[in-house]
Amino acid sequence: MKYAVVLLMMVLAVAGTYFAVFHEDIMAESSSSSQESSSSLSSSVPLTVSPEESSSESGTSASASSLLPESLPEESSSSEPEKEQKPAYSPTDWKLRLINPEHLLPEDYHFEKAVVEGDFTFDARAVEELKQMLADGRAAGHSLRVVSTYRTVERSEYLYNRQIENYMALGYSEEDAAIEAGHWVAPPWTSEHNAGLCIDVVSTDYDLQYGDLMHEFEQFDSFTWLSTHCSDYGFVLRYPKDKQEITGITYEPWHYRYVGVENAKLMEEKGFCLEEYIQWLQEE
Ligand SMILES: [Zn+2]
Repeated sequence: MKYAVVLLMMVLAVAGTYFAVFHEDIMAESSSSSQESSSSLSSSVPLTVSPEESSSESGTSASASSLLPESLPEESSSSEPEKEQKPAYSPTDWKLRLINPEHLLPEDYHFEKAVVEGDFTFDARAVEELKQMLADGRAAGHSLRVVSTYRTVERSEYLYNRQIENYMALGYSEEDAAIEAGHWVAPPWTSEHNAGLCIDVVSTDYDLQYGDLMHEFEQFDSFTWLSTHCSDYGFVLRYPKDKQEITGITYEPWHYRYVGVENAKLMEEKGFCLEEYIQWLQEE
């Protein structure tokens, strides 16, 4: 059965019908039984960033306002528009770290892990908020099911290499096979899962019907609850439907990334995805 799925994907890939933007997640990770033997679709892409600005001071000689008749309403004392207060940004801030094929996780990236539930682990600095989100969602009547959290680089490597072998078995050269595999599986060091900062979560009622990570999850009440409340716990829907060209990754209604409550609320308020938010933070 699983092989039929793999075969179908291969046929689709060979036919050149896969998406222009890629999956970040390994779809088959949602089927809890045979993770090792199933197909895997995943990967990601790029973005850019830039800042700039200058300011000037007016002289101290007779100001224009002192020449105006007193009856005119006084102008605001500051000649410059109010600057928006923004959180400080650093590219190495763990909460806002960008991780994709253009921004690899450094090989010496270390963080403390903590258990979310069962075998699932997460960055210990955010695990309490994640646990609270899951608890509150369940208390609100949603049968949330964790599919994937922290994923080792070794596992990413294994899945990526296996996909390359699949393509080579179809007659691809090693180089072409690696390119094709990269369309479906996030290469090691390029996934937020490698940093323990994101969770793939669905609900058991969804799972019974679909059993894999698909866009249909957006039709379930659990998705509505998650996408509405995740910012209260510092999470954002990382790959929104209307930001695919910016994130370079297909819409993933199940993938939530921890960025901290302050950032999550601001991103929600401004309608920014992480790439846009980081760019905005860097602008003066
Ligand atoms: Zn994910």
